[in-house]
Amino acid sequence: METVAREIRIEGVVQGVGFRPFVFRLAHEYGIKGWVLNSSEGVTIWAEATEERIAAFYEALLANPPKLAMIVHHYQTPRQVQGFDHFFIKHSEAGDRRDVLISPDVSICDDCYQEIMDPSDRRYRYPFTNCTNCGPRFTIIMDVPYDRIKTTMRDFPMCPVCQREFDDPLHRRFHAQPNACPDCGPQVTLRDLEGNVYSGFGHEFFKKAKIIAVKGLGGFHLVCDATRRDAVVALRRRKIREFKPFAVMCRNLQVAEKYCYVSPEEAALLESPAHPIVILDRRRQDDLPPEIAPGIKTLGVMLPYTPLHHLLFDDDLEILIMTSANISDDPLIIDNDEALIKLKGIADYFLMHNRQIYNRCDDSLAAVVDGEVQIYRRARGYVPLPVDLPYEVPVILGCGGELKNTFCMTKGKSAFLSQHLGDINHYGNYQQFLYTIPRFEKMLDVKPEIIAYDLHPDYMATRWAKSQEGMTKIGVQHHHAHMASCMAENLVTEPALGVICDGTGYGLDGAIWGFEFFAGTPAHLERMAHLAYMPLPGEITIKRPTRMAFTYLYELFGDVGLKYAKKYLPTLPEEEQRVLIRQLENRFNTVLTSSAGRLFDGISALLGICTRVQYEGQAAIEMETISDPEVQEIYSFEFNKQVKPYQLGVRGIWEGVLRDLESGTPTAISAGRFHLTLAAMMEEVLKELRGETGLNLVVLSGGVFQNKLLFRLLRKRLTEAGFRVIYHRKVPTNDGGISLGQVYIASEVIKENVSCHTGQNHEN
Ligand code: ZN
Ligand code: ZN
Ligand code: FE
Repeated sequence: METVAREIRIEGVVQGVGFRPFVFRLAHEYGIKGWVLNSSEGVTIWAEATEERIAAFYEALLANPPKLAMIVHHYQTPRQVQGFDHFFIKHSEAGDRRDVLISPDVSICDDCYQEIMDPSDRRYRYPFTNCTNCGPRFTIIMDVPYDRIKTTMRDFPMCPVCQREFDDPLHRRFHAQPNACPDCGPQVTLRDLEGNVYSGFGHEFFKKAKIIAVKGLGGFHLVCDATRRDAVVALRRRKIREFKPFAVMCRNLQVAEKYCYVSPEEAALLESPAHPIVILDRRRQDDLPPEIAPGIKTLGVMLPYTPLHHLLFDDDLEILIMTSANISDDPLIIDNDEALIKLKGIADYFLMHNRQIYNRCDDSLAAVVDGEVQIYRRARGYVPLPVDLPYEVPVILGCGGELKNTFCMTKGKSAFLSQHLGDINHYGNYQQFLYTIPRFEKMLDVKPEIIAYDLHPDYMATRWAKSQEGMTKIGVQHHHAHMASCMAENLVTEPALGVICDGTGYGLDGAIWGFEFFAGTPAHLERMAHLAYMPLPGEITIKRPTRMAFTYLYELFGDVGLKYAKKYLPTLPEEEQRVLIRQLENRFNTVLTSSAGRLFDGISALLGICTRVQYEGQAAIEMETISDPEVQEIYSFEFNKQVKPYQLGVRGIWEGVLRDLESGTPTAISAGRFHLTLAAMMEEVLKELRGETGLNLVVLSGGVFQNKLLFRLLRKRLTEAGFRVIYHRKVPTNDGGISLGQVYIASEVIKENVSCHTGQNHEN
């Protein structure tokens, strides 16, 4: 049989995932000679053997790649036989392109877990144990190709034993770039503010209700025993955070199941390589301190994802509060010195280590809805994996929104969303936005020349985008971006209907939109209907739902509304009511809004559920929590087709809720009816629009669809009505996803070379 040679190229997530040892073993198995090499393009293999053997080898290569690998492209090219007599692993070379996908951080694997729990193992209780199947990646990578010297592990030269593992193609740690052991790797230190150093991982302090700042993978956490009310209360008080729920970490899946209902899909998500925080329904409300998640029946749960996290637990400690260590919406703290300064007065002890965190990365947040994963905060474990686009696009930077900012950079058919950067109106987050963009440019080896941004003139990302020179700039309406984002991740290119519901987005008419119906393709979306405008009396109203309830009552019912306000909004001072009336009469410091978020706020306040908002969506979340999901009766609403775009009036809803209040109907019933009414309203509008446009595909997007009750009710009705419904599963439905929609719209605008069709500004 004649020997032939092939050069095989594999692109995708193929570095740092055990790909070369896998190729090496496979080559031996199939009697292939030649070599394998990590290059900037991915993995290159030189294979010499008979045609049949190479074909079988190639097939096996694609059929069963290592668990964490993701093959995006593969090619083979015939070459001249060079006569290799064995198969070996070649040293990395710097190629001219950088098509290697960097792996996200991967939670500790079972093999490594066994080692750290085994007293006879040299890595017993060593917090930085990892292998090619697990460990830090994105958070420590400073440049590509992914080699130890280009990670923050460069500070830790390997000891001879680790080096042997690293060099052995048959070892689990072969070319595991962050490989380390107690002799050569990073170390933890447990200390207090006075500089006293303690041994261990702080178990005795947790048991004394102390709070420890723990440096993890993507940043610091504040950690305490979640069963200790005194600790949880102290953490709330010190962090000056009254309501926003704390996430917890459970020792293992069994503990998570003790406190929460865990479906098989939820268990799989908890234990997936990304190990996100998963929002679970609690079994009972009284088995943990109420201060963990005030007013809601769910709990954000994650499992230990690094060896260090496993070591925080012992036989008595089974559930720990694990909340991001930052000061009021500033970026997560990643630096030891910064932690000691900024967390003084919050943390009692500091469990720190000397491995630098290069890329700050929050915990991801996800949920399972009707058996499917939805991601609400996309960060650790998912970033920087790309989202596939329907077609190849130019290099575009989408700058994202303001709250929950992410940006998005495209390369070929891939869209790379940054990790969640938070509210970039905060200085520190904005700084992170500024330095993360060039990091992505370097990592992807691209230089965007097209920039897409939100139309809100005051968004930091928008100001920044407009100040960039030499770029083609494309402004994208906020809700258009939401809709396009959902279309992009579902690979939809055809026209669709969409209902987009959120709190705030700058509209084409200068009003604040947020309950919008569109029809069309991404670059040609027409506003078909929206919630009737209401004045929004000042930004402060977003934090004070009673003001919104008052506005609705007064605008809809005049003086009669004032009587209801007196009766049902007792927390709104009379003086403030007088000022509000003047403000509404004169339209002073008010903008018009069709926001769904504000409608939720208003009803929530009228029902006395939430009167003060400390985190985005709180009023709606608390209302969803108490809603009776079984109600059948809906309130009336007005669908006004006399004007274009059509308008949805909610007077009937407010009358209905007031009637319920007067008759003493339980709040749970009213809240349930409100949700059901919204679903019915959306269904009616979409049916009308289907009749007019012939479109049967419906896109659901916007932060309001994190509301599981509304999402389920609506999806069920629409599906039963014969619609094809798409929604978000890969990127957040909230503003964390709009950067993807921005680039999708920009790519279509560029492709068609249209401008100003649906308000997309296009400047050069
Ligand atoms: Zn491992
Ligand atoms: Zn070592
Ligand atoms: Fe939004």
